[in-house]
Amino acid sequence: MFDHIRIVLIETSHSGNIGSAARAMKTMGLSQLYLVSPKSVDKQSLALAAGADDIVTNAHIVSSFDEAIADCSLVIGASARLRHLQSTLLGPRECAEKISLYQGNIAIVFGRERVGLRNEELLKCHYHLTIPANPDYSSLNLAMAVQLVSYELRMAFLANKENGFSFSLANKSDESKKHANAQEMEYFFKHTERVYKSLGFIKNQGVMQKLRRLYNRASVEENELNILHGMLSAVEKRLELLNIDS
Ligand code: SAH
Repeated sequence: MFDHIRIVLIETSHSGNIGSAARAMKTMGLSQLYLVSPKSVDKQSLALAAGADDIVTNAHIVSSFDEAIADCSLVIGASARLRHLQSTLLGPRECAEKISLYQGNIAIVFGRERVGLRNEELLKCHYHLTIPANPDYSSLNLAMAVQLVSYELRMAFLANKENGFSFSLANKSDESKKHANAQEMEYFFKHTERVYKSLGFIKNQGVMQKLRRLYNRASVEENELNILHGMLSAVEKRLELLNIDS
Protein backbone atom coordinates (compact mmCIF):
# COMPACT_ATOMS: atom_id res chain seq x y z
CA MET A 1 0.00 0.00 0.00
CA PHE A 2 2.96 2.31 0.57
CA ASP A 3 4.97 0.95 -2.35
CA HIS A 4 5.11 4.36 -4.02
CA ILE A 5 6.70 5.93 -0.90
CA ARG A 6 10.39 5.36 -0.24
CA ILE A 7 12.59 6.21 2.70
CA VAL A 8 16.02 7.37 1.56
CA LEU A 9 18.94 7.36 4.01
CA ILE A 10 21.97 9.36 2.92
CA GLU A 11 25.48 8.10 3.80
CA THR A 12 24.44 6.47 7.06
CA SER A 13 27.53 5.81 9.15
CA HIS A 14 26.13 3.54 11.90
CA SER A 15 25.00 0.28 10.33
CA GLY A 16 22.71 -0.33 13.32
CA ASN A 17 20.69 2.74 12.42
CA ILE A 18 19.84 1.16 9.07
CA GLY A 19 18.34 -1.85 10.87
CA SER A 20 16.45 0.32 13.35
CA ALA A 21 15.09 2.47 10.52
CA ALA A 22 13.95 -0.70 8.69
CA ARG A 23 12.17 -1.86 11.84
CA ALA A 24 10.55 1.56 12.26
CA MET A 25 9.33 1.42 8.66
CA LYS A 26 7.96 -2.13 8.80
CA THR A 27 5.97 -1.54 11.99
CA MET A 28 4.16 1.25 10.13
CA GLY A 29 3.69 -0.67 6.87
CA LEU A 30 6.45 0.89 4.75
CA SER A 31 8.85 -1.31 2.81
CA GLN A 32 10.84 0.68 0.25
CA LEU A 33 14.28 1.55 1.65
CA TYR A 34 16.95 3.28 -0.43
CA LEU A 35 20.48 3.62 0.94
CA VAL A 36 22.81 6.16 -0.64
CA SER A 37 26.44 5.08 -0.11
CA PRO A 38 25.99 3.60 3.36
CA LYS A 39 29.26 3.02 5.24
CA SER A 40 28.25 -0.62 5.69
CA VAL A 41 25.24 -2.88 5.87
CA ASP A 42 26.19 -5.69 8.19
CA LYS A 43 25.23 -8.04 11.03
CA GLN A 44 24.48 -5.08 13.26
CA SER A 45 21.93 -3.81 10.72
CA LEU A 46 20.21 -7.20 10.64
CA ALA A 47 20.29 -7.56 14.44
CA LEU A 48 18.63 -4.20 15.00
CA ALA A 49 16.11 -4.81 12.22
CA ALA A 50 14.77 -7.71 14.32
CA GLY A 51 11.96 -9.12 12.15
CA ALA A 52 12.39 -6.42 9.53
CA ASP A 53 15.55 -7.87 8.02
CA ASP A 54 13.71 -8.39 4.71
CA ILE A 55 13.59 -4.60 4.35
CA VAL A 56 17.35 -4.38 4.89
CA THR A 57 18.13 -7.24 2.47
CA ASN A 58 15.83 -5.83 -0.18
CA ALA A 59 17.09 -2.26 0.25
CA HIS A 60 18.17 -0.50 -2.94
CA ILE A 61 21.79 0.56 -2.52
CA VAL A 62 22.73 3.45 -4.82
CA SER A 63 25.70 5.76 -5.08
CA SER A 64 24.06 9.17 -5.35
CA PHE A 65 21.19 11.26 -4.06
CA ASP A 66 20.06 11.89 -7.66
CA GLU A 67 19.89 8.17 -8.38
CA ALA A 68 17.75 7.51 -5.30
CA ILE A 69 15.16 10.14 -6.24
CA ALA A 70 15.35 9.98 -10.08
CA ASP A 71 11.84 8.56 -10.65
CA CYS A 72 10.17 10.51 -7.83
CA SER A 73 7.99 13.53 -8.52
CA LEU A 74 7.72 14.55 -4.88
CA VAL A 75 10.86 14.78 -2.77
CA ILE A 76 10.77 15.71 0.90
CA GLY A 77 13.92 16.35 2.91
CA ALA A 78 13.92 15.86 6.70
CA SER A 79 16.13 18.11 8.77
CA ALA A 80 16.20 19.60 12.24
CA ARG A 81 17.77 22.82 10.94
CA LEU A 82 15.36 24.39 8.49
CA ARG A 83 14.19 27.65 9.95
CA HIS A 84 15.37 29.60 6.88
CA LEU A 85 13.12 27.59 4.54
CA GLN A 86 9.80 28.93 5.79
CA SER A 87 7.74 28.62 2.62
CA THR A 88 8.37 24.91 2.05
CA LEU A 89 8.42 23.81 5.67
CA LEU A 90 6.08 21.03 6.85
CA GLY A 91 5.50 19.30 10.17
CA PRO A 92 5.21 15.47 10.14
CA ARG A 93 1.39 15.52 10.22
CA GLU A 94 1.01 18.06 7.41
CA CYS A 95 3.60 16.14 5.45
CA ALA A 96 1.66 12.88 5.80
CA GLU A 97 -1.56 14.59 4.75
CA LYS A 98 0.11 16.07 1.68
CA ILE A 99 1.58 12.70 0.74
CA SER A 100 -1.78 10.98 1.17
CA LEU A 101 -3.22 13.19 -1.59
CA TYR A 102 -0.35 12.71 -3.98
CA GLN A 103 0.00 10.43 -6.96
CA GLY A 104 3.38 9.30 -8.27
CA ASN A 105 6.53 8.19 -6.51
CA ILE A 106 7.53 9.98 -3.33
CA ALA A 107 10.91 10.09 -1.55
CA ILE A 108 11.38 11.12 2.07
CA VAL A 109 15.07 11.76 2.56
CA PHE A 110 17.00 11.60 5.84
CA GLY A 111 20.52 12.94 6.30
CA ARG A 112 23.79 11.83 7.81
CA GLU A 113 24.01 11.27 11.57
CA ARG A 114 26.71 13.89 12.04
CA VAL A 115 25.91 16.60 9.54
CA GLY A 116 22.40 15.95 8.22
CA LEU A 117 21.56 16.99 4.65
CA ARG A 118 23.75 19.34 2.59
CA ASN A 119 22.35 22.57 1.17
CA GLU A 120 22.53 21.32 -2.42
CA GLU A 121 20.51 18.27 -1.35
CA LEU A 122 17.90 20.39 0.43
CA LEU A 123 17.62 22.43 -2.77
CA LYS A 124 16.51 19.31 -4.64
CA CYS A 125 13.58 18.77 -2.26
CA HIS A 126 10.11 20.18 -2.94
CA TYR A 127 9.28 20.32 0.75
CA HIS A 128 11.22 20.28 3.98
CA LEU A 129 10.09 18.29 6.94
CA THR A 130 11.00 19.26 10.44
CA ILE A 131 9.90 17.54 13.62
CA PRO A 132 9.14 20.41 15.99
CA ALA A 133 11.42 19.19 18.77
CA ASN A 134 12.96 21.03 21.72
CA PRO A 135 14.67 24.05 20.09
CA ASP A 136 17.62 23.64 22.47
CA TYR A 137 18.06 19.97 21.52
CA SER A 138 16.26 19.29 18.28
CA SER A 139 18.21 16.48 16.67
CA LEU A 140 16.58 13.04 16.96
CA ASN A 141 18.34 9.78 16.34
CA LEU A 142 18.00 8.94 12.64
CA ALA A 143 15.82 5.84 13.12
CA MET A 144 13.60 7.65 15.61
CA ALA A 145 13.00 10.40 13.08
CA VAL A 146 12.08 7.71 10.52
CA GLN A 147 9.73 6.15 13.09
CA LEU A 148 7.90 9.38 13.77
CA VAL A 149 7.45 10.27 10.11
CA SER A 150 6.32 6.71 9.25
CA TYR A 151 3.83 6.79 12.15
CA GLU A 152 2.23 9.94 10.80
CA LEU A 153 1.98 8.35 7.36
CA ARG A 154 0.18 5.40 8.90
CA MET A 155 -2.19 7.70 10.81
CA ALA A 156 -3.07 9.55 7.60
CA PHE A 157 -3.56 6.22 5.85
CA LEU A 158 -5.88 4.93 8.59
CA ALA A 159 -7.89 8.16 8.60
CA ASN A 160 -8.33 7.97 4.83
CA LYS A 161 -9.31 4.32 5.01
CA GLU A 162 -11.96 5.15 7.57
CA ASN A 163 -13.38 7.70 5.16
CA GLY A 164 -13.42 5.09 2.38
CA PHE A 165 -10.68 6.95 0.56
CA SER A 166 -7.78 5.09 -0.98
CA PHE A 167 -4.33 6.42 -0.08
CA SER A 168 -2.29 7.06 -3.25
CA LEU A 169 -5.25 6.71 -5.56
CA ALA A 170 -6.32 10.32 -5.11
CA ASN A 171 -6.83 12.05 -8.47
CA LYS A 172 -5.34 9.06 -10.23
CA SER A 173 -7.72 9.38 -13.15
CA ASP A 174 -6.48 12.88 -13.88
CA GLU A 175 -3.52 11.96 -16.06
CA SER A 176 -2.92 15.53 -17.18
CA LYS A 177 -1.75 16.25 -13.65
CA LYS A 178 1.20 13.88 -13.82
CA HIS A 179 4.11 15.67 -12.21
CA ALA A 180 7.57 15.67 -13.72
CA ASN A 181 10.00 13.46 -11.81
CA ALA A 182 13.38 14.49 -10.38
CA GLN A 183 15.32 13.21 -13.38
CA GLU A 184 13.10 15.10 -15.84
CA MET A 185 13.47 18.26 -13.74
CA GLU A 186 17.25 17.77 -13.71
CA TYR A 187 17.31 17.63 -17.55
CA PHE A 188 15.22 20.78 -17.60
CA PHE A 189 17.57 22.61 -15.19
CA LYS A 190 20.55 21.61 -17.35
CA HIS A 191 18.71 22.80 -20.48
CA THR A 192 17.82 26.13 -18.81
CA GLU A 193 21.39 26.63 -17.65
CA ARG A 194 22.82 25.85 -21.10
CA VAL A 195 20.52 28.25 -22.94
CA TYR A 196 20.79 31.14 -20.53
CA LYS A 197 24.56 30.73 -20.21
CA SER A 198 24.89 30.95 -23.97
CA LEU A 199 22.77 34.11 -23.87
CA GLY A 200 25.14 35.52 -21.27
CA PHE A 201 22.35 35.84 -18.70
CA ILE A 202 23.54 33.18 -16.26
CA LYS A 203 27.06 33.88 -15.04
CA ASN A 204 27.04 32.13 -11.66
CA GLN A 205 25.25 29.37 -9.76
CA GLY A 206 23.21 31.79 -7.64
CA VAL A 207 20.61 32.30 -10.37
CA MET A 208 20.25 28.57 -11.00
CA GLN A 209 19.71 27.93 -7.28
CA LYS A 210 16.90 30.48 -7.23
CA LEU A 211 15.36 29.02 -10.39
CA ARG A 212 15.53 25.51 -8.94
CA ARG A 213 13.68 26.71 -5.87
CA LEU A 214 11.08 28.49 -8.01
CA TYR A 215 10.35 25.56 -10.32
CA ASN A 216 10.36 22.99 -7.53
CA ARG A 217 7.86 25.11 -5.63
CA ALA A 218 5.62 25.13 -8.70
CA SER A 219 5.37 21.28 -8.80
CA VAL A 220 5.63 21.34 -12.57
CA GLU A 221 3.41 18.92 -14.48
CA GLU A 222 4.79 16.89 -17.40
CA ASN A 223 2.82 18.76 -20.07
CA GLU A 224 3.95 22.09 -18.58
CA LEU A 225 7.55 20.90 -18.61
CA ASN A 226 7.20 20.12 -22.32
CA ILE A 227 6.13 23.72 -22.94
CA LEU A 228 9.10 25.06 -20.97
CA HIS A 229 11.49 22.84 -22.96
CA GLY A 230 9.77 23.98 -26.15
CA MET A 231 10.37 27.63 -25.22
CA LEU A 232 14.04 26.98 -24.53
CA SER A 233 14.43 25.06 -27.79
CA ALA A 234 12.83 27.94 -29.72
CA VAL A 235 15.44 30.30 -28.24
CA GLU A 236 18.22 27.82 -29.05
CA LYS A 237 17.05 27.50 -32.65
CA ARG A 238 16.99 31.28 -33.13
CA LEU A 239 20.46 31.55 -31.58
CA GLU A 240 21.79 28.95 -34.02
CA LEU A 241 20.32 30.92 -36.96
CA LEU A 242 21.91 34.12 -35.67
CA ASN A 243 25.25 32.34 -35.36
CA ILE A 244 24.99 31.06 -38.96
CA ASP A 245 24.04 34.50 -40.27
CA SER A 246 26.86 36.32 -38.51
N1 SAH B 1 23.59 16.70 13.48
C1 SAH B 1 22.68 16.58 12.38
C2 SAH B 1 21.49 15.77 12.78
C3 SAH B 1 21.42 14.56 12.05
S1 SAH B 1 20.24 13.45 12.69
C4 SAH B 1 22.21 17.94 11.94
O1 SAH B 1 22.53 18.89 12.61
O2 SAH B 1 21.55 18.06 10.91
C5 SAH B 1 20.04 12.45 11.26
C6 SAH B 1 18.84 12.78 10.42
O3 SAH B 1 17.64 12.54 11.17
C7 SAH B 1 18.72 14.22 9.96
O4 SAH B 1 19.51 14.50 8.83
C8 SAH B 1 17.24 14.29 9.62
O5 SAH B 1 16.99 13.72 8.37
C9 SAH B 1 16.62 13.43 10.73
N2 SAH B 1 16.20 14.27 11.88
C10 SAH B 1 16.73 14.31 13.12
N3 SAH B 1 16.07 15.20 13.89
C11 SAH B 1 15.10 15.74 13.12
C12 SAH B 1 14.08 16.72 13.33
N4 SAH B 1 13.92 17.35 14.49
N5 SAH B 1 13.28 17.02 12.29
C13 SAH B 1 13.41 16.39 11.09
N6 SAH B 1 14.35 15.48 10.84
C14 SAH B 1 15.18 15.14 11.83
